[in-house]
Amino acid sequence: MSAHIINGRELADDLRAQMKDEVSKLHEQGIYPSLTVVLVGENPASLSYVKGKERASKKIGMHSNLIQLPASTSEQQLLGLIDQLNNDTTVHGILVQLPLPSHISEDIIIEAISPAKDVDGFHPISIGRMIAGKDTFLPCTPYGIMTMLDEKGITVEGKHAVILGRSRIVGKPIGQMLLNRHATVTYCHSRTKQLDRYLQQADILIVAIGQAHFITDKQIKEDAVVIDVGINRLEDGSIVGDVDFDSAKEKASYITPVPKGVGPMTITMLLQNTIKAARQMNQVTNGS
Ligand code: NDP
Repeated sequence: MSAHIINGRELADDLRAQMKDEVSKLHEQGIYPSLTVVLVGENPASLSYVKGKERASKKIGMHSNLIQLPASTSEQQLLGLIDQLNNDTTVHGILVQLPLPSHISEDIIIEAISPAKDVDGFHPISIGRMIAGKDTFLPCTPYGIMTMLDEKGITVEGKHAVILGRSRIVGKPIGQMLLNRHATVTYCHSRTKQLDRYLQQADILIVAIGQAHFITDKQIKEDAVVIDVGINRLEDGSIVGDVDFDSAKEKASYITPVPKGVGPMTITMLLQNTIKAARQMNQVTNGS
């Protein structure tokens, strides 16, 4: 039987409609959730990502401010701006779009962002709190994946989750979040030997490597839940995932498509984190 397709676009739209109500309730209390995105340089992909974030914020009534700086900006200048934003009480979320030009250390910049405004969830304090299982800003892509699993009522506890890819922004944190929810987790990466042996054991398979159609039905277990994070542009301009959707959907129980899968959920969770930051800064509890 063909897999149930998890439509991330529809789910993201539903969640964003709820967030729009939440934002307007916060407005009634004089709180105006606000996200500041900083872009250094003119990388076209980054520009398109930040514009997408700005559009999504505005659509739910959230204030969004894009600061564009020239590629020649020094690390010191960027640190100065972050300090200013950290101290600006009207700014709740700060996101510095990566990658940064090579003369600026991403680690230094990420660590300079106040953990109270770290809506990307990349600050070492946020990561540490996540590993400790404490409340924090979760990184947006893995947070979006967990939300999808929860919304579909997919049980994580006791399942074998295999994560293909170990990046700091996707692979590592999604494995940790699944572990926190009592999955048994295996990480695989480019040095893994006999990869298929692990893939075929996966009750939940998360693929985040950036290689078009790398995974086919042959590598997945019958009825696996398959989450495809990959975004790959083919020569004809089309966007595909890391999973060969057409074959895998015949074997999986649930599967995310690309596009309209994990992608729209990532920005949604950024909005969620910004609302959370605004609530926390104004000491408003959830649901009030
Ligand atoms: P990175 O390039 O940072 O990491 C890729 C990971 O995949 C590495 O751990 C690497 O292993 C592993 N890998 C690469 N090739 C293979 C292979 N042939 N076999 C086994 N492992 C392999 O990628 P990201 O995590 O940033 O992104 C992954 C994909 O997800 C990309 O397509 C990206 O565009 C997409 N993405 C999508 C998002 C969304 O919102 N939908 C958000 C973020 C990313 P090693 O560590 O050994 O080098």
